[in-house]
Amino acid sequence: MNYFDTYPLHITNSLTGQKERFTPVNPGHVGIYVCGPTVYSDVHLGNVRTFMMFDVATRYLRFLGYKVRYVRNITDVGHLENDADEGEDKIAKKARIEQLEPMEVVKHYTEGFHEVMRQFNILPPSIEPSATGHIVEQIEIVKKLLEKGLAYEVNGSVYFDVTKYDTLHHYGILSGRVIEELLESGRKLDSQDEKRNRIDFAVWKKASPYHIMRWPSPWGDGFPGWHIECTVMSTKYLGETFDIHGGGLDLKFPHHECEIAQAVGANGKSPVNYWMHSNMLTVNGQKMSKSLGNSFLPRELFAGTHKLLDKGYGPMTVRFFMLQSHYSSTLDFSNDALQAAEKGFKRLASALANVKKLAHSGNVTPDAKLSETLNGQVDALFNEMSDDFNTAKTLAVLFDMASRINDFKSGNTPLSSVSSEDFERFRKAYVAFMEDVLGLKEEETQNDALLEGVINVLIELRKKARQDKNFALSDKIRDELKARGVQLMDGKNGEMTYSID
Ligand code: AMP
Ligand code: ZN
Repeated sequence: MNYFDTYPLHITNSLTGQKERFTPVNPGHVGIYVCGPTVYSDVHLGNVRTFMMFDVATRYLRFLGYKVRYVRNITDVGHLENDADEGEDKIAKKARIEQLEPMEVVKHYTEGFHEVMRQFNILPPSIEPSATGHIVEQIEIVKKLLEKGLAYEVNGSVYFDVTKYDTLHHYGILSGRVIEELLESGRKLDSQDEKRNRIDFAVWKKASPYHIMRWPSPWGDGFPGWHIECTVMSTKYLGETFDIHGGGLDLKFPHHECEIAQAVGANGKSPVNYWMHSNMLTVNGQKMSKSLGNSFLPRELFAGTHKLLDKGYGPMTVRFFMLQSHYSSTLDFSNDALQAAEKGFKRLASALANVKKLAHSGNVTPDAKLSETLNGQVDALFNEMSDDFNTAKTLAVLFDMASRINDFKSGNTPLSSVSSEDFERFRKAYVAFMEDVLGLKEEETQNDALLEGVINVLIELRKKARQDKNFALSDKIRDELKARGVQLMDGKNGEMTYSID
């Protein structure tokens, strides 16, 4: 059973700028590669937005019936402080400052990353390869580029020759950058530079004597360039031409442009059919980033300890907030937006709990118009998601469905107005799009809030019972709560507090 023929998926391809009907290389199968984190620091909410977007895309591809292989790498070597191949390796620098082994840094932040992914209900990829686990393959492709004359060696480092490549292919195909302009802009090379042109990039870097992360190679001890790892790992696990490659918009240039050049240079084939880029999470209009000092960490968000927040928010509220905008738009993060999201999410979550409990008796007094509306809403869920993963519009349909659910629950609309088949289709779609496709589930803290509210109602009733000198009822409330692990404590002036065992 598949849905992809009935609701064909369309994706805006960054390569062409057009919305295109998605056709995988192997019918029924999808290969997707997403650039993972550089594990030298805690992930912030901007990173979370990008990984969440590709989580939803993967979930929906699977829901449509595709068999998906989702590869998301871990960058644990080769990402220098500066995209122009300058500065220290980010992980080696952190290890030096903290006096740790680089692999201790990698393990610590990889585990932290996994924990954050779990908190936001972002599913693990099918394969999570690391750059250091693929040094041999990276050396092989560097050799291939040298053989083809598309790279050159200087003092133990190897650089990709962008101008040479551009005479044979087209550098700038993804980002639209024009090579002549790139060559003219920015600083000129000086005699210290090893590169022939400033737009050339490292595919292999010589390790200085004190550099810890180093591997032997035909060019001496060194380490791979940042872009080469993704070319190697994506083609190794998904093939020389695969379906979808994603990442944040900031990776389009130079990272993804360089990946294309390396793959086309080495294999003579365009590596990716659909490039997808998700837009940035911003704070006051500025990209959230560690280096700009405006990043929010997930734990600051949950605890509400960040200076821009009034209180803490649960991960599902944040997930809902992020999915309320289309991935191609920027999204601004603020306390007000989160407050609104909290309300909206509660509405959808309570409809989710309610729709699971509704039971159709089997009796029907048909209302054809209502059946048509419900079926139309189910189709709309698919159509919106199949329209370039439009989570914002999908959520709008879920809100309409939630109103219907509330009407069924209150009895305003009897369930018998629709057939049990139509109702089941509607119910299943609401639950599946919430839980399986969008990955939204009840906020754990929402149950806590509910429990607190209910206990407070009982406390008020007990106070009233005491005022009325109805001690039998007052004791009953205290004892019944105690039997369930809730201790009521009588304070001064008739106040009552409680604790839970
Ligand atoms: P990094 O750890 O820097 O390699 O980034 C991991 C992923 O997060 C990449 O796909 C980036 O494009 C993405 N990313 C970084 N900052 C943001 C942001 N402010 N909003 C959305 N995605 C981001
Ligand atoms: Zn990458």
